[in-house]
Amino acid sequence: MAHEPTARHDPAPTVNPLIRLIPPFLVRVFARPYVAGDSVEQAIRTASQLWSERGLGSSLDLLAEDIEDEDTVQRNTDTYLELIDRTVGEPGFAAADALDRPTVSMKLSSYTTRPLERGGDARGAADAIRTIAAHARRKGLRCTLDMESRHWTDFTFDLLGQLHREGLTDVGCVLQTRLDRTEADLDRLPPGIRVRLVIGIYAEPESVAITDKREMKERMLRFARTLLERGHYVEFATHDEPFVRRFVDEVVPATGVGPDRFEVQMLYGVPRDRLLGELRGRGVRCRLYVPFALGWPMAIAYLRRRLDEYPSMVFLVARNWLFRG
Ligand SMILES: Cc1cc2nc3c(=O)[nH]c(=O)nc-3n(C[C@H](O)[C@H](O)[C@H](O)COP(=O)(O)OP(=O)(O)OC[C@H]3O[C@@H](n4cnc5c(N)ncnc54)[C@H](O)[C@@H]3O)c2cc1C
Repeated sequence: MAHEPTARHDPAPTVNPLIRLIPPFLVRVFARPYVAGDSVEQAIRTASQLWSERGLGSSLDLLAEDIEDEDTVQRNTDTYLELIDRTVGEPGFAAADALDRPTVSMKLSSYTTRPLERGGDARGAADAIRTIAAHARRKGLRCTLDMESRHWTDFTFDLLGQLHREGLTDVGCVLQTRLDRTEADLDRLPPGIRVRLVIGIYAEPESVAITDKREMKERMLRFARTLLERGHYVEFATHDEPFVRRFVDEVVPATGVGPDRFEVQMLYGVPRDRLLGELRGRGVRCRLYVPFALGWPMAIAYLRRRLDEYPSMVFLVARNWLFRG
């Protein structure tokens, strides 16, 4: 019998109380545009279409949070191994060069039943990530360790350092500019590593983070420049058009790096077609973060965070549904 994944912890703790009140089945309805599908096949099909029809890269991510049992940990690991094999075998990517091929993104909490934010020791997470990263390297795909709440920051950087020392130098990481510590973290990155810059989705306390979004994005620009000057590959991940433009038109030219040293990233389902089309037309590499689920309960936390970022989605979907005739 197929193993049915379970989630023990819904709703997500970072989300505002109104969004938290929406029952899971409605979250699924409202947030549907943010998910590529409920199988490995659908995720790869979506990535293949994004590439062939719009010239957009993908970073594929299995939504699997709040893991309750070791079977689910194993299932998540196996799913990534399958995802990597199938992506490499997908004819649609055969002609894409290394930087344009899909990457895979992983959340460390998907590989342990003892998450750090609940006082656990993340047992098993490092081994699972190492297995997947080694497989990805053998198959020629790059992977990225997503960054979760502040409880995971040190653990993630420590693991990243170990993987790089073991020769898994294709593993990239994420820096969240809302955290005060991030400026110092720039100095502990392995040389030349791929870095995704984001403001950070987790609501962190003022004792460790800033709360002004504009300041977070100013930091994105500042850190992007530092990283490019230090030889890193920068993935500038925001939907804020003026900041994307400042990155591409001011920061990148100021550092003199070529198009093979940076890209712009956005989330699948966030409507930015015009901007992405324009950037592609100018030769800027663009990638969407493409999440998929195998069991909807495990996608609910991610989807709630998306609705929290953009509550209007609830009204847009409800209006489309009411007036669909
Ligand atoms: C590729 C990618 C990977 C990410 N990886 C991580 C990670 O590993 N760890 C982490 O903590 N965070 C991650 N994030 C999330 C990120 O930290 C932000 O929470 C998210 O990108 C929203 O911030 P913003 O910079 O777009 O700015 P915002 O100010 O939040 O948004 C800018 C504009 O985009 C619109 N917008 C934003 N989100 C949505 C949405 N869901 N639907 C419709 N419109 C929207 C807003 O309405 C606003 O007009 C990632 C984001 C991206 C794009």
